[in-house]
Amino acid sequence: MANIGTLDELFVDELRDLYDAEKQLTKALPKMAKAASSEELRAAFEEHLEQTEGQVQRLEQIFEALGQKATGKKCAAMAGLVKEGEELADDAQAAVRDAGLIAAAQKVEHYEIAGYGSARTHAQLLGNDEAVQLLEETLEEEKETDQKLTELAESSVNEEAAGETRQTQRPAARASQSAGSKTRGAATAKAHKSSGTRHA
Ligand code: FE
Ligand code: FE
Ligand code: FE
Repeated sequence: MANIGTLDELFVDELRDLYDAEKQLTKALPKMAKAASSEELRAAFEEHLEQTEGQVQRLEQIFEALGQKATGKKCAAMAGLVKEGEELADDAQAAVRDAGLIAAAQKVEHYEIAGYGSARTHAQLLGNDEAVQLLEETLEEEKETDQKLTELAESSVNEEAAGETRQTQRPAARASQSAGSKTRGAATAKAHKSSGTRHA
């Protein structure tokens, strides 16, 4: 059972996990793009799909230099993250769905950032400079993607989702205000104002 005895073996195991994770994403990202309503979000998913295909090739390059066959080992974590994203896309309505897709995609990027960060560190310890450089390139792409998703969420998609929620809730809010619950209404207005300031 304990067949990973050296750092070299651990490194190859990490590469196989990442390789399978990226392969899963080459299938999931087109679906996420299709599920997105925002044109910008769809474009971001499509762009990251292209990057992901390049990331698969980088891993293949590392396997080749190590004299290892490029094979994946099922990444159960990515399978779970992709599944959660799919379930959410099925359950949520359009504008809220985009906000949810961004959240799901950021969970994926964070998993990748952790995985590539560790693999890069282990490549450094092993003195594998070529692998360090390749893993670093991918790591930067994952970080940039995460950042871009945050910007998309802050700039428009979450606002749309909040707008949709406000519209849906308006009749209920009115009813509760007429029932004398003015404090809650004031707190909500204040929250919206401060969020407007943040984006200005
Ligand atoms: Fe990736
Ligand atoms: Fe994994
Ligand atoms: Fe990624």
